[in-house]
Amino acid sequence: MTRHSSELITPRTVEAVHARSLDTVALGNSFARELPELSLSWQADHACDPRLLVLNEALAAELGLDAAWLRTPEGTCLLVGVAVPEGATPVAQAYAGHQFGGYNPRLGDGRALLLGELVDAAGHTRDLHLKGSGRTPFSRGGDGLAAVGPMLREYVISEAMHALGIPTTRALAVTATGEQVLRETVLPGAVLARVASSHLRVGSFQYARATGDLALLRRLADHAIARHYPDAARADRPYVALLDAVLTAQAELVARWMLVGFVHGVMNTDNMTISGETIDYGPCAFMDAFDPATVFSSIDEGGRYAYGNQPAVAQWNLTRLAEALLPLLHDDEQQAVAVAQEALGAFAGRFDAAWKAGMRTKLGLPADVDQAVATELTTDLLTLLRDGHVDYTSFFRALGAAARGDVETARSLVLDLAGIDAWTSRWRALRPNAEVMDRVNPVYIARNHLVEEALTAASDDGDLEPMHRLVTALTEPFTERPGLERYAEPAPTDFGRYRTFCGT
Ligand code: AMP
Ligand code: MG
Repeated sequence: MTRHSSELITPRTVEAVHARSLDTVALGNSFARELPELSLSWQADHACDPRLLVLNEALAAELGLDAAWLRTPEGTCLLVGVAVPEGATPVAQAYAGHQFGGYNPRLGDGRALLLGELVDAAGHTRDLHLKGSGRTPFSRGGDGLAAVGPMLREYVISEAMHALGIPTTRALAVTATGEQVLRETVLPGAVLARVASSHLRVGSFQYARATGDLALLRRLADHAIARHYPDAARADRPYVALLDAVLTAQAELVARWMLVGFVHGVMNTDNMTISGETIDYGPCAFMDAFDPATVFSSIDEGGRYAYGNQPAVAQWNLTRLAEALLPLLHDDEQQAVAVAQEALGAFAGRFDAAWKAGMRTKLGLPADVDQAVATELTTDLLTLLRDGHVDYTSFFRALGAAARGDVETARSLVLDLAGIDAWTSRWRALRPNAEVMDRVNPVYIARNHLVEEALTAASDDGDLEPMHRLVTALTEPFTERPGLERYAEPAPTDFGRYRTFCGT
């Protein structure tokens, strides 16, 4: 799969072999080869008039793909899957999953394809995957398609997450297919080219376990270990080490979501990766006013995936992963359950540690501040923010200025002036470090009203400029820049309640 097996891959050698035509794109197929039971060989629908809407040139370079070539008709055909290099074997992946708590034994890529694997400039294997590329044997009632707006939405939000330093799948390109997609109205169709360190999910393990084929389950676990957690292969109990590593990665991931106010919106087990990358930007959104009950998804009536429930849901999903892995954890089922329970017992502590460390940084607290003091300050502040419906992102950024002595902006955001004054003097007495705070408290996040404005211009008028301007702000989220003031502001009050949708 590597281009020069005897050569070290460095950014320079990748530069030298930058793929400039279809035949020079080296697409591996280790998933399809090693796990044929989880792969259905499949092809993308023909796009009648593919038109590249947005290309992530920095990511293309990282992947050893020539951006100028990707913009040619041949390159664009790769980005919609209608032309693939010789030897590539695109597949639809099989997986199961719990959706809103209900088990579905057969989900799989209903509108997506894994084109193959690329080795990036750092020598890491990355999946090149398409979303919206047509029906597959997993489509059930769906049309296999995606519309321009939602695919651009995934592009904007996943790149914003990456810029925030949060592990995530990446967006390489969005291409309009020239086809129409029928939703509530007729919409222009698009294909998203997505890059991930893999598309292995909790649901992949649930599917493998449900086949009853223990050898397949073991092969899948070995594949995941080799790809993501090679240290686990050298552990005394490699599959316990795998479970443990996924648990840590997910505890840290969800803590990072919570720290920036991100609501995933559809944390079904098929949407939780083994790598610890955020995946599937469907109904996700960033919270404005701080409230643990925040829900955006139109179908999440019970608030199962509300902001404040995300750590508990992650643990629930990981419990499903542990169940799927049981036969690999111990030969004796009772002992396997005990091993799984012990591993799962570590989740809450790991989440808590990541959240507390993150909150200390957001508050700029020096290392010598006692954790009990930090925890009390955090709890009291979040109560003030929730009770006063305070914009989470604006407040934390303003707190950086407050650490420098300008308390007025932060103060003006809170209704309970006596409460915030008392809190601020307790906090400032600890000598918070404003520079540290400014490196973790973003000025610019993918605010709902800005995302909607950019997508409406792109979908309705074919005007991509608002999206490009938004992406420019979001890709340097911690650097305040003149001219970008409106990207830092909360939604106008008439924006109203924001609703998001799945399967768009
Ligand atoms: P999601 O929760 O959006 O990741 O999707 C859950 C499942 O529904 C996956 O198996 C998807 O492939 C499938 N799916 C979503 N939208 C469509 C569609 N328009 N056509 C076919 N399958 C779809
Ligand atoms: Mg999904």
